[in-house]
Amino acid sequence: MSGKDLTSTLWDAANRLTPDARSKARTFVDTVGAPFLGSINGSGSRKDVAITFDDGPEPTVTPHLLALLREHNVKLTFFVLLTQCRRYPELLQAIVADGHEIALHGVDHRRITGLPYGLAVDYLSNAKLELEQLTGQKINFYRPPYGSQSVASWNAARKAGLQVVAWSCDGADWVDREVDSVVADSMARLNSGGILLLHERLEPDPQRDAPKTTFNRIDMTDRLLNQVAAKGWAAAPVGSMVSESGAKRTVWLRP
Ligand SMILES: [Zn+2]
Repeated sequence: MSGKDLTSTLWDAANRLTPDARSKARTFVDTVGAPFLGSINGSGSRKDVAITFDDGPEPTVTPHLLALLREHNVKLTFFVLLTQCRRYPELLQAIVADGHEIALHGVDHRRITGLPYGLAVDYLSNAKLELEQLTGQKINFYRPPYGSQSVASWNAARKAGLQVVAWSCDGADWVDREVDSVVADSMARLNSGGILLLHERLEPDPQRDAPKTTFNRIDMTDRLLNQVAAKGWAAAPVGSMVSESGAKRTVWLRP
């Protein structure tokens, strides 16, 4: 059985469990496996949350988002695609100039679980190097597109010098709806120390119809940051949150 098939088999088996059994299995798997095969999905912080934006930069969003983040005086983590960075190098530089954390989401949005181990190591090593040259920052974190990960692709990321960052709360901002609904759903499931997944844009999926949303992502972020502050939390980049409060790790395998 290949690594990819094993991931699918485990994923299907986990999804057949009742929620209670799944929760117990998850606790067991993380206790045993996370020290060896962990992906970061939170921290021990009681005051910070990490808000993360994937798939950018994007000219219709990034400049407005950066202005909003300056207003709120917060720094976040951007999981960027190199295809977008090459197209819009000035946007990448603007994110860096504002002091945000840059992390890797991929050259493009492919699932690296489809690559043989050696090619996956090369793909990630080269992407990390290019992003470091573009930003002048050390790149520490990688989030696989779709959260798709096998044991081999996790190992490839580690070999390339990257730690995998997943999320504790999916903002589900790929579903088109009212801004208030996105914010309320996110806040209902986000805990202190958590990592929230959001998007600057949605990279079209070649295997499915491209998701399209019409709500205003700047408005969404503004309301979200107000609610985060109202809870007494501070928004922080992943790197500073986990270095201050310690990373939480989970065994994250998805087809
Ligand atoms: Zn993505």
